[in-house]
Amino acid sequence: MSHLEDDENPYLLLTPGPLSTSRSVRRAMLRDWCTWDDDYNHGIVQVIRRKLVELATSAADAENRYTSVLMQGSGTFVVESVIGSVVPPEGRLFVIANGAYGERIAKIAATLSLDCVVNRESEIQSPNLESIEARLANDPKISHVAVVHGETTTGMLNPIREIGLICKKYDRILIVDAMSTFGGVPIDVDSLHVDYIISSANKCIQGVPGFGFAITTRDRLLETKGYARSYSLDLYDQWSTMEQGQGKWRFTSPTHTVRAFAQALVELEEEGGIVARNARYVENHRRLIRGMEMLGFRCLLPADLQSPIITAFHFPDSPDFAFKSFYQQLKERGFVIYPGKVTNVDTFRIGTIGEVYPDDVDRLLTAIQEVRQAAV
Ligand SMILES: *Cc1c(COP(=O)(O)O)cnc(C)c1O
Repeated sequence: MSHLEDDENPYLLLTPGPLSTSRSVRRAMLRDWCTWDDDYNHGIVQVIRRKLVELATSAADAENRYTSVLMQGSGTFVVESVIGSVVPPEGRLFVIANGAYGERIAKIAATLSLDCVVNRESEIQSPNLESIEARLANDPKISHVAVVHGETTTGMLNPIREIGLICKKYDRILIVDAMSTFGGVPIDVDSLHVDYIISSANKCIQGVPGFGFAITTRDRLLETKGYARSYSLDLYDQWSTMEQGQGKWRFTSPTHTVRAFAQALVELEEEGGIVARNARYVENHRRLIRGMEMLGFRCLLPADLQSPIITAFHFPDSPDFAFKSFYQQLKERGFVIYPGKVTNVDTFRIGTIGEVYPDDVDRLLTAIQEVRQAAV
């Protein structure tokens, strides 16, 4: 359903989450659920946990080797849960950062007083694989490596395949923040050597905010018992409660959000799975870039680094451009875009994920043209 038929929403969210959801996903929240009843735990939570594993890898025997943990809170809570729960007391974390979300992982590690080293790079550059490899080769104390897949700051797709190969070669554990890509970009954690992958309900799976999840192997998780530096964000404890209680969360679970997520997973299947969803996002993105360039806008990133998830554009050169008024006028026409987050350049961002279709992008481009013409 296009949002044109959706009279509950005055505008479309062209943001990287929360994003526009289908009416049927929102409608799924109208019923109340009991957190310790089988209808909920067995019927919804366990089904979600199994489906997440299926989405993460098609490896043989994945359903026995792999497992997933759901965790209350926004995406950052799950990142903090994983970082704080899986690095042993004597371990060292190596963070590859080229944007605000990579920096956030480093901040989490610092707050938790983890031993952490950071490979810091320009926000508009892909991480330097030679220096990453040299670091791992020369620092045997590094036990874990963390990197963001889709760096939402810029829209950059980081080379997790290459980083996974390096981690495998030096036998280090790889943690990937795939918050903004999981469900929208095909990723097979088993063949990519990703040990922990993290995402949340309100991004490419197109659910509503309230919880996130990590997918890993049972063997990995079993090694981490007792490592957690936080009580409520203890990943191992949450997992063992979910395993033993067959879908039981340790503390109050966001039942309505979880039910909406179950519906969002059904709709992902109906669309044709991650491959089909990715094709829609790629088409949204392709039309956006082509149209914006025709209107005189320039992308921040070169095409080969760019994801189909969100795109950063330079402010136009014209002195009359004011982001606030541009934003406001687009909102009045039914589109909410996103401010920039790059440190040294004036940019704004447009997301192409969520319940957003190519003809929505065409209508957006028409609205942008109108707003720009009115400005001159
Ligand atoms: C959205 C996002 C997060 C989590 O942000 P929350 O506001 O905590 O949900 C983390 N990493 C990336 C790359 C993201 O896009």
